[in-house]
Amino acid sequence: MYLIMNETPMILYIISDKRSGSTLLENILSKSDEAVSLGEVAMLKNHILREGPGEKWGWSCSCGEALNSCGFWAPIIKEVLPGQTENEFETKINWSYTSFQSFIFGLFPRLFKKKIFKKIQSERSEKVVKNVLSVYHAVYDKAKKKFIIDSTKLPIQALAIYQKRSNLRVKFIFLTRDIRGIAYSKKKSKEGKNIKVSFKDLYKVWLYKRFARSVLTFIKKGDALSIRYEDLATHTEKELKKIFSFSEMKPFDTPTYMELNNDHTLGGTPKRFEKRKINLDETWKKYFLHERAKNLFGVFLNKT
Ligand SMILES: [Zn+2]
Repeated sequence: MYLIMNETPMILYIISDKRSGSTLLENILSKSDEAVSLGEVAMLKNHILREGPGEKWGWSCSCGEALNSCGFWAPIIKEVLPGQTENEFETKINWSYTSFQSFIFGLFPRLFKKKIFKKIQSERSEKVVKNVLSVYHAVYDKAKKKFIIDSTKLPIQALAIYQKRSNLRVKFIFLTRDIRGIAYSKKKSKEGKNIKVSFKDLYKVWLYKRFARSVLTFIKKGDALSIRYEDLATHTEKELKKIFSFSEMKPFDTPTYMELNNDHTLGGTPKRFEKRKINLDETWKKYFLHERAKNLFGVFLNKT
């Protein structure tokens, strides 16, 4: 298919850690008439197979339907799957963000470039990218929306897609949050009550952030925008304006609620099914009041 330049869709890919507000951002952007939000495309395979993360919502699309009966996803899967079994249909590049390699890359991206690029050029990674790009194209053909939002988050997948984007325009929104907030929120979603955040938990969040920042050094300046979750949740309109000028998306009214509105997204926070007022979650602050050393460590990590 031949696409002329101004008809090329733009992929807005959200890079972030878990529990950093990516579902909020994805949901806000989905309110644009020009955009279609897919949620976390990397989770497409495991939602088709109905295994792995997503059990909480039965691996269904956010519309409530199983993927093979969802009016949005079923035809897209039908289009991109041929030639491979569901099991061969890879949509996620696996990488250990807490490995020693990640640590080195987080500190010295240029020095460690070869290793990372070798990873994203592996046969499996190339398969993932090919599938993800086919999904983007199929979505564009079906939805005819100028912007496609992918909140996959994973930095290594972001870089792999960027390298192979060819005629697609791909831009990144790097969403960050206070390291203490992320570490606390991750623990809360796993442990519920009696949350204990360790130094190691904080360090791991920092490792991921450093890795993501290193990935951004290989992305052209104008193709990435950094946003803080804390700003997005409190000054939504102001942050949204930055995104409008960065992406050239037509401005729309700032939503005050996070709600699903005829969406067909994959993954995201389990809380996304309830309509909720956009609010800054800083429940972690109370915990760190009584953990002074960890609090200071978190403050230090936020600055490095
Ligand atoms: Zn659906």
